[in-house]
Amino acid sequence: MTVLDLNSELSGLLGAENVLVAPERMQPFLSEPRRRFHQSARAVVTPRSVEYVQALVAWANTNRQPLVPQSGNTGLVGGQVPLTGTEVVVSARHLNRVLEVNAGAGHISVEAGLTLQQTHEAADAAGALFPLTIASQGSAMIGGILSSNAGGVQVLSYGNARELCLGVDVVLPNGELMHGLNSLRKNNTGYDLKDLFVGAEGTLGIVVAATLKLFPKPEGYETAFISVADPEEAFALFEQMRERLGTTLTAFELMPRFGVDMLLKHGVIERDPAASISDWYVLAEVSRARGGRDGALLDALEGAFESGLVENAAVAQSESDRENMWKARESMSDVQSREGASIKHDVSVPLAAVPELVTRGIAAAKQILPGIRPCPFGHMGDGNLHFNFSQPAGADPKAFMAGAEPIHEAIYAIVTDLGGSVSAEHGIGQLKTHLLQRVKDPVAYALMKQIKAAIDPNNIMNPGKVFDL
Ligand SMILES: Cc1cc2nc3c(=O)[nH]c(=O)nc-3n(C[C@H](O)[C@H](O)[C@H](O)COP(=O)(O)OP(=O)(O)OC[C@H]3O[C@@H](n4cnc5c(N)ncnc54)[C@H](O)[C@@H]3O)c2cc1C
Repeated sequence: MTVLDLNSELSGLLGAENVLVAPERMQPFLSEPRRRFHQSARAVVTPRSVEYVQALVAWANTNRQPLVPQSGNTGLVGGQVPLTGTEVVVSARHLNRVLEVNAGAGHISVEAGLTLQQTHEAADAAGALFPLTIASQGSAMIGGILSSNAGGVQVLSYGNARELCLGVDVVLPNGELMHGLNSLRKNNTGYDLKDLFVGAEGTLGIVVAATLKLFPKPEGYETAFISVADPEEAFALFEQMRERLGTTLTAFELMPRFGVDMLLKHGVIERDPAASISDWYVLAEVSRARGGRDGALLDALEGAFESGLVENAAVAQSESDRENMWKARESMSDVQSREGASIKHDVSVPLAAVPELVTRGIAAAKQILPGIRPCPFGHMGDGNLHFNFSQPAGADPKAFMAGAEPIHEAIYAIVTDLGGSVSAEHGIGQLKTHLLQRVKDPVAYALMKQIKAAIDPNNIMNPGKVFDL
């Protein structure tokens, strides 16, 4: 089919205003945040209703036209952009309605193209909280959040996207709509198909709407930037705080001083959020329920001082202090690009193994490249670190990246040895297909392929993502 024929077929199905074929108009949909993957597409389409999505997918199935589902295009593993240039990108951006909010019963139903930020706002306007929080929330949309099973900074207390999802509506690869929106907390009627589509990275169908859990809005937050000697002490602090604070401890994030220094050097933050210079920090936050006791975090910190786990701590005295602390955490990945090239890993290990992961990972990378600057940070309370490394000061970025493979291998070997995962929250996309095949239990991998073949026999849904082409 020529480009002209394709354009006219798609325009006939969806309306010409919802079909983009000019390279400059497709451009924003074709490269992703890290600019690692870039590929052209046959077209980008923006259907305006679920019925249009169904018509498009049925047509694609008949014509063996590969599709790439896309929501906010903030994914970090290249799942949402084309791989071969023969695909049609299907953007959820026009499916952006709030369908129902019920704060009392604790659920909200939205279409896939509503941004996470807009979902927060809709929940907030109804007096409730949708807790999933990530730095890309102004752009990331519910379809992508669910399809990548996003995590973020409050998983510790509220769970990741999968745990926050009650049901999904999905357009299957044959164009049928699987109705799944429901607010049931208990529903043991056979296989839970929702969980197949959450985290499927667009390989099994197009998520068009979802019902999500809402929670009571906290009355306030207590936030501290805590100086600790090393990740061992950070983990001991986590155990102690978790025991005292239970699920009111909603964030526990680890950061190295090197990261804070970069943020100050590049003017990303103006004030040092820490009370003193220390090799490592923990950003801990307590969410106070209505009528809950004020000062719970301070009490927990006092206990930690007494047991010698904490060197010093800055406790946020104002919203501006809290924002500064969170800005430091949320900008940790971005600021690395201002220091040159960086090698990144999104990995998880059992909670108690985080300190060992840090120690062994840093030692292994330094043995390969002595000047390398480690910057492991992230969701320590979930056992999930973004184990990043900045290039040696003044090194050539291209030469540094050319030597990335042995460092990847070393980190993934340690993670695997510790019983961890090579992708904690970003997914497989096109970045880690080879790794998945290597590390996944062979029986589980074969079963995943059988499921894919059963649901999408013509392999039109995001081919080459999760599984190699
Ligand atoms: C600054 C920054 C910070 C981030 N922080 C975090 C973080 O803390 N935690 C975290 O987990 N992630 C994080 N991410 C990664 C990313 O934001 C999340 O993975 C997010 O969930 C992706 O949502 P999206 O709407 O942008 O999806 P996209 O990037 O558009 O798509 C992601 C995947 O889902 C598929 N997909 C998209 N829409 C649909 C649909 N409607 N139906 C079926 N499949 C679909 C795509 O094909 C792709 O495989 C961050 C990214 C950035 C840039």
